[in-house]
Amino acid sequence: MFIVPKFLPGADGTPGERNDVTLAGLNHKMGYRGVTNCLLNFGEGTHFRPQGEAGAIGYRVGELHRGLACMFHMMNEARISVGLGAAMLGYTGYLHALDYARNRPQGRPLTAAGKSADAAQVKIIEHADVRRMLLAQKAYAEGALGLSLYCARLVDEERNAADARARERAALLLEILTPIAKSWPSQWCLAANDLAIQVHGGYGYTRDYKVEQFYRDNRLNPIHEGTHGIQAQDLLGRKVVMKDGAALQLLAETALATVARAAATDTLATSGAQLGSALEEIGKVTQTLWSAGDPQRTLANASVYLEAFGHVVLAWIWLEQALVAQAALEHATSEEETHFYRGKLQACQYFYRWELPRIGPQLALLASLDTTTLDMPERCF
Ligand SMILES: Cc1cc2nc3c(=O)[nH]c(=O)nc-3n(C[C@H](O)[C@H](O)[C@H](O)COP(=O)(O)OP(=O)(O)OC[C@H]3O[C@@H](n4cnc5c(N)ncnc54)[C@H](O)[C@@H]3O)c2cc1C
Repeated sequence: MFIVPKFLPGADGTPGERNDVTLAGLNHKMGYRGVTNCLLNFGEGTHFRPQGEAGAIGYRVGELHRGLACMFHMMNEARISVGLGAAMLGYTGYLHALDYARNRPQGRPLTAAGKSADAAQVKIIEHADVRRMLLAQKAYAEGALGLSLYCARLVDEERNAADARARERAALLLEILTPIAKSWPSQWCLAANDLAIQVHGGYGYTRDYKVEQFYRDNRLNPIHEGTHGIQAQDLLGRKVVMKDGAALQLLAETALATVARAAATDTLATSGAQLGSALEEIGKVTQTLWSAGDPQRTLANASVYLEAFGHVVLAWIWLEQALVAQAALEHATSEEETHFYRGKLQACQYFYRWELPRIGPQLALLASLDTTTLDMPERCF
């Protein structure tokens, strides 16, 4: 099976040539099976030999030496879209797991009454461990969606804000947030899909329920449009040091404004203080890593840096959501609204108590400039 596209005429008007581009076949993928993905081979000389030799002719589009800049312009929006796609899969998996947990009877409560053989079974949502899995999914999916929407707003502001300073500010924030917007939802909403399967128990592993498909579909997201490792190098190697650290500084100032608003409340001041220290720690570890004097050492554990940084950004996004929820709760006009805002506050609390503390050991490892991975001799694997 092969295709041979006829190329457009060249800039000088010469007719297009038949080039040797072969469709070698379809890739058989783990997920996204409704979307075909093909393998193209260029210039093997099997069917056509342009200018008498094996090869394919490429035509430059746009200005010389501007290709990488153009590619990154396109890639940045593509990366935010990947993050949003991951968030949507995480969210839908959560909603399926929630529905299942509300309907599946299994086990009895751990109370004295529950020990009786005659006691009725409860719905699995009543078990603390199932609630843990649901809360984690909610925290990942709604956090990721919040970050994706914030970045989408920045994309609009970067283009359309009336004031030039606001456009520059949005552009700078987008620079530093894009690797997080791409990688955090891809990692943690995949983890959410994993938990959605777990909530379904054995059924989650079968095709009777959709959660196994969500997991398979989401597994692509840490890979395409720049793998996790590449986003990590982009963040630590370029974004936090660009323009003498201006993007990092702006992000910290923006998040600290949220901390200041939280400090003025009774309920969210503690979380705000926790975020304030996490931001300070990220700043310190960034300096330590760049003081190594050897880029290979600085970047050796970049993916750990990306993950710790991502959790701090998401802690900020959750605090923003909680501040809105806290204010709105006081004016809620229905039970449904009250439940919605209380759910947001509880998910924020989950994030601060269960998730943000994960960065402690990660930052300690980074600060030690550990070289275990670099030092492992290749032949010893
Ligand atoms: C379903 C699907 C659809 C796709 N669609 C498209 C498409 O439409 N258009 C398109 O252009 N591409 C497409 N891709 C390709 C996709 O963008 C790449 O697979 C992806 O960018 C990873 O590149 P790679 O496969 O060459 O892996 P590699 O670059 O070989 O990476 C392999 C591993 O090595 C790590 N690694 C590589 N280099 C470094 C480094 N310098 N430092 C540290 N770690 C490193 C990576 O993080 C990864 O873990 C698609 C891929 C898939 C699976």
